[in-house]
Amino acid sequence: MKPSTEYLIALAGNPNCGKTTLFNAITGARQHVGNYPGITVEKKEGFHLFDGYKLRLVDLPGTYSLTAYSMEELVARDFLVHERPQLVINIVDASNLERNLYLTLQLLELGIPVVLALNMIDAAANRGIEIDVEELSKRLQISVVPTVARSGQGKETLIRTAAELAESAPPWKPLHISYGADIDPVLDQMEADIKSAQFLTDLYPARWVALKYLEADEQMLQKGKSVNAVLSARLEAVAQGVDDHLQKTLETYPEAIIADHRYGFIAALLKGGVVRNKQQSDRLYFSDQLDVVLTNRFFGPLLMLIIIYLVYKFTFDYSTVPVSWFEAGFGALADLMDSLLPPGLIKSLVVSGIINGVGSVFSFVPLIMFMFFAIAFLEDTGYLARVAYMLDRVFRTFGLHGSSVMAYIVSGGIAGGCAVPGVMATRTLRSPRERLATLLTAPFMNCGAKLPVFAMLIAAFFPARHAQMMFLLTLLSWAVALFMARIIRWTILRGPSTPFLLELPPYRMPTVKGLLIHTWERTWQYIRKAGTIILALSVLFWALMTFPRLPESEQQLFEARRQQLSSLIPQDTHNESPEDQSADGGNPVQERLREIEQEEALATLKNSYAGRIGMAIEGLSLWCGFEWRTNVALLAGFAAKELIISTLGTAYSIGQSDQEQEVTLSERLRNDSHWNRLNAFSLIVFIMLYAPCLATITCIAKEAGKLKWAIFSICFNTLVAFVFAVMIYQGGRWLGLGG
Ligand code: GDP
Ligand code: MG
Repeated sequence: MKPSTEYLIALAGNPNCGKTTLFNAITGARQHVGNYPGITVEKKEGFHLFDGYKLRLVDLPGTYSLTAYSMEELVARDFLVHERPQLVINIVDASNLERNLYLTLQLLELGIPVVLALNMIDAAANRGIEIDVEELSKRLQISVVPTVARSGQGKETLIRTAAELAESAPPWKPLHISYGADIDPVLDQMEADIKSAQFLTDLYPARWVALKYLEADEQMLQKGKSVNAVLSARLEAVAQGVDDHLQKTLETYPEAIIADHRYGFIAALLKGGVVRNKQQSDRLYFSDQLDVVLTNRFFGPLLMLIIIYLVYKFTFDYSTVPVSWFEAGFGALADLMDSLLPPGLIKSLVVSGIINGVGSVFSFVPLIMFMFFAIAFLEDTGYLARVAYMLDRVFRTFGLHGSSVMAYIVSGGIAGGCAVPGVMATRTLRSPRERLATLLTAPFMNCGAKLPVFAMLIAAFFPARHAQMMFLLTLLSWAVALFMARIIRWTILRGPSTPFLLELPPYRMPTVKGLLIHTWERTWQYIRKAGTIILALSVLFWALMTFPRLPESEQQLFEARRQQLSSLIPQDTHNESPEDQSADGGNPVQERLREIEQEEALATLKNSYAGRIGMAIEGLSLWCGFEWRTNVALLAGFAAKELIISTLGTAYSIGQSDQEQEVTLSERLRNDSHWNRLNAFSLIVFIMLYAPCLATITCIAKEAGKLKWAIFSICFNTLVAFVFAVMIYQGGRWLGLGG
């Protein structure tokens, strides 16, 4: 038979609910992919012939909501109101019903006819979740069809149900939800005004328009202004009044109350056995009990601080010994190479460029491993999600969002993360402004590459205070990040905040295997990076620090001084091995020789490309207490933070005599006259805050979609770092510290 009637059906659902799988199962090969006009959001269309009808299906972008927070949500919403499909097939993940129904409610509030596809019932059943389909359908007053999109189960029923509903062509019938005593009366009044003025009602239900004004939905406000500026301004004023009132009475804002009531509605909908969780009920009960304590308003944050402190204690107390083995190992290797290779460029490259460079990064593998283990433990138990939950309130006051917490933590908020996945983790943020503010401030966190630098400087200048210092640095990084986020959200990224949607997974006892795998995965990333990128960049910076060579004339000058000295050495001592000499306190002539060698090395570094840049900015950097050799290391840190420590290592190992080769960098810095606690601390803070590494910059450019933000990030962070370092150093000197 020939299809005579065509029905347009939209597929809507959260990301990952199985929408595409279902779409493919229904349309088979009869589909094509394009873009929505003018934007890059993908539009997939296909059709299915059923009983004389042609069902035209459009796969909408996955969204959690219909508010204009993101491009996807706007596209989905505009499609529904402008294209007016006969109905929406709303696909929900049955194992995560509560969250998925949030979108369903909004579809129902819009009034469009909905068929609910209760997808992934197989996965839900595996997790012990049982859903009373009939009861759910009765309470929602829509058809509910259980499906397994992957196997096609329930597909026939779903198509038939949808076709029947389309055929009966029901009118749009918006669902009314109560939003409580503060909002309901205002909402009613606004609705009446909108109706009588026929304000946007050709496309949207009146109550829906009113809600959008309360939610300060930008697209709606703009549309409203262009249609009826007077009424639009009046509605905005009413909404502002509600906002002010809620701020004063409940310290919250309309969107949050609206979200709360929607969740309340859903919770009530699912009560009384609509969703039963057989396997997990005991565990859920236990989790709830545990949450009473762990997320308690007072004890929660306190406990959180204690736990974070314990993570550092664990990491630093237990990793010191293996780290020292690694350091000793690399020291011995450097010694060996030093004695095997003839003096010259090759020796310098192998010892200073490769072994000291990569070695100083590798030595921290045990520390990184312990840290990752502790973090994996917090993550796998479900505790990290609680941290995000507790910090949501704090984050809001700084113009961020509860989901920003995860981005911070992944970037190294507790320590030992990486800003690259951190920046990518901001994808879960729906508001572009909150997202940008998060991804611009996440690099302030103490990532795994900054840790070794801190550890080295702490060991040199604040020994036996590892955990305390790390704790302090963590607090400092959060404080600066939040403070800067607030400033950014007050200035270049002004705008409202969005409500928080994060569920608390039940607590779990992590398996040892799981913990070890997670720890190893991250440690291996670190090792691989050290072995490849860091090795390459380390050699590159060695070259920058070695070339151009000193002019021939100067080299000869040093050589002449050496020869002159050597001729003074009596024949018998000259043949003694260096160990013997150091044992009896050193021979004065040998001492002089070593000094000359150091002078030459220093002259070489000064003359090198890196040295010249370091010197050129020394005038500025001395404000923070950094001499030019530190500048060279910071320069290398632009490429990768790991290079800071290896470059410092090279800069301070060049020209050290044989006996001192195995002295650790920490000891060397401690004994250097340019260094003291004050500029060490100033340096730590500078490194914590200054420009993100190249990988992060690239990622910021990609995620923010504009190069401008990457450049902004480099300049802004470096400026912030400079200001803080100057404050610390100059303030400290004023107080008479350091020196
Ligand atoms: P979309 O983001 O909503 O388009 O989701 P996809 O269609 O890409 O599906 C996400 C994942 O869920 C894929 O790995 C699917 O194979 C899987 N999936 C989809 N439907 C089901 C289902 O009914 N049961 C199970 N167990 N997995 C499913
Ligand atoms: Mg998809």
